[in-house]
Formats: sequence, structure tokens, C-alpha cells
Amino acid sequence: MATRGFSTRAIRSGQDPCAATGSTIVPVYQTATFTQESVGVTKGFDYSRSANPTRSALEKQLADLEGARYASAFGSGMAAANGASFSFLKAGDHIVATKDLYGGTHRLFSDVFPRYGITTTYVEMCDIGETRAAIQPNTKLFWVETPTNPLLKIIDIAAIVALKAPGQLVVVDNTFATPYWQRPFELGVDVVMHSTTKYLGGHSDVVGGVVISDDPEIHRQVAFQQNAVGAIPGPWDAYLTLRGAKTLALRMREHERNAHAVAHFLETRDEISDVYYPGLPSHEHHELAKKQMRGFGGIVSFRLRGGGEAAHAFARSTQIFNLATSLGGVESLVCSPWSMTHGSMPAELKTELGLTQDLLRLSVGIEDEADLIADLGQALDATRVAASNYAVA
Ligand code: PLP
Repeated sequence: MATRGFSTRAIRSGQDPCAATGSTIVPVYQTATFTQESVGVTKGFDYSRSANPTRSALEKQLADLEGARYASAFGSGMAAANGASFSFLKAGDHIVATKDLYGGTHRLFSDVFPRYGITTTYVEMCDIGETRAAIQPNTKLFWVETPTNPLLKIIDIAAIVALKAPGQLVVVDNTFATPYWQRPFELGVDVVMHSTTKYLGGHSDVVGGVVISDDPEIHRQVAFQQNAVGAIPGPWDAYLTLRGAKTLALRMREHERNAHAVAHFLETRDEISDVYYPGLPSHEHHELAKKQMRGFGGIVSFRLRGGGEAAHAFARSTQIFNLATSLGGVESLVCSPWSMTHGSMPAELKTELGLTQDLLRLSVGIEDEADLIADLGQALDATRVAASNYAVA
């Protein structure tokens, strides 16, 4: 049969009716262990750290959405980031990673891996020459996050793949784009990871992660790590993620529609100096985004001319956009990368990267567009009032 469409896979892959009961929906197998018929004779499961039927259904669904054969689910995006890197590394190995990186991944590479003799060079990965120059004889892994968090730069995935020598791996954190908008395996990468906490789960009610590959040996190494370290999601969390991912296509189309409207609106406002959204013709990598992605996603970042004080006033004033870390849920959120998502990054590095206090990041949800625009408008008005109060004071 021809490959099924994206939403058919989201709703059907790994989700055949239960052979024992006919249950149409994959049950929550809330069990730690499985009874064996005789020693070593199982129905494919023996202990839920190693494998659990609810988690297996999720793994099949997410692998199929990325267009690959294998997936291993983890208990958080960071556990998945560790699974997508540490599984392949040993003391003396080296990573080339994008500078503009999720703060937690930066912390893992900078504060944890060096203790095990693994080093990382951070580069401006939009610059292929700079990336090539960072490669060392012991480079084992390229870590790509695109669009980047929070500045939404676009890295040319195919160009990074072209730099790779035999024995090296390219990993893409596809959390922001999702497989609906960006298909890294079609561009030749070896491993894709997600924080499923974000768009794949989609409802901000579960923390999780996944590592996906299409190579049996790569999968073997990640699955070994998943079982040996044991950073797995429980069956209930696997169920919630599986359920959320069924509607990924529908949600992503709405997120993107609203994000376009929000980005265009922010561009019209005097209080704002810069708007970062890859779907805007003014975005520095708009042409590459159009070539590499099928759509531009739901995250919009921007800078307030009034600096950190204005940004704080704005974040205090929104009524629909919750001031909260995270992204990718149906509800709209606003966050300050400086003190929230990238709080663990050294201040000098944040300043060098432009993650200064005037920067805010929006995760644009799927509420009604007019309400979102009205909320942003009133918060910008409040920012003006706050600024005039500071001026008077
Ligand atoms: N990767 C990206 C791009 C993220 O934004 C995040 C979290 O914000 C993570 C990884 C880590 O995921 P988690 O918070 O589920 O551990």
C-alpha cells in the first residue's frame, strides 16, 4: 500500500485494535511487569522499563510521523537529548553544536559531558565555513537545532549533512518545527529528537521526549541506553503523548496561521524594534526556511525598544498569553528567554548571542486570532504606560 498521509499515520500507526479485547483505543498498560507462560516465554513484554505496550504504540506512531522505522521514548526532552548524544559518545569525543541552542541542551553539553571527557564547540551554524572549521579529528556528532531557540534562525540541514565524514552523525532537534513542517530524514540526517512536551504532546500536560532513527544499529544503541539508564516515560504519559500527537497536523496549521497574524501585527507596532519569525519576508533566513520547511511553525520572538523593563511590563500585562516556560501547547505563552528558558546559560554568552532582557518569546496557541491580537495590543499599550511612569519617576 502507498505510504499513508500524515494524519492517517498519526491516528493509525501503532494503534491497531487490541488483539485480546478489541479495544479501539490503545489502553494505558499501567503495569510494571508481565506474567510469563513459562520461564522466558513472553508475549513480547517482560518488564516496563524495557518495553511497555502503550509506550511501544507511541514509539511506532512517532517513528512513522518522522518517516523512519525506529523510535525510543524518554521521560523528558532532556532525557531524549542525552539519549540522542551520549548513546554514541565515549571519552575523548567531540560535538559541534549550534550556539543558539535550548539552554538545557547547552547545560548538558557544557556542565555534564566534560566530566566524562566529551567536549563541545559551539558555532554559528548558519555559517557553514565556521562550522567546517570547528570539525576536529575526534568530532563524532553535529548537533543541529533549527529553527533555533529563541531567535528562530534557520540552519541549512542538507549543508551540515554534506560536512559529515564516515563515522560522524548529524542529530536534529526537530522540536520547534515538528515532522509536519520539517522532514530532517529526507535531508540525510541520522537521528531526530524531540521534546514531546511541546507540539507532539500539544497540551502542556505531559513532559516527554523521543529519539528517532532509520538505522537498526543507531536504534540499537539508543534502545540500549533507554533500558540501561531507564529514563522512560510511564504508560500514562505515553498515552497522553500518543493521544495528543493524533491531532498534530490540525494544530500545527492553526498555530502557524495565528503565528503569521501575530508576527505581522507585531511588525506594525512602534514599541517593537525586531520581530523574529521565519515566515516573515523580513526574516534573515526566509528563503532558506521556504526551501527547507513546509511551514514556519508557531513561535515568534521580538524585542521591545523599552528594554528589559518594558519586556517585564509586557509579560505582566498579557491576559491570554500566560507568562510561562515551555511552548507548543494549544494555549498561548509568553516567556523571557534571559531569565526563563535560558536562565542556566552564562550571562556573557546570552549577551553575545543577543538573548538580552528586551527579548520575549511567544508560543502562539490556537485560541481565536482576534483575541490574541487584542491581548498583545493591550499589553503593548500597558508597556507604554509603564514607560511613561518610569519617565515621570
Ligand atoms: N529541545 C528544545 C528545542 C526545547 O525547547 C526543550 C525544552 O524547552 C528541550 C529540548 C527539552 O525538553 P524537556 O523540557 O521536555 O526536557
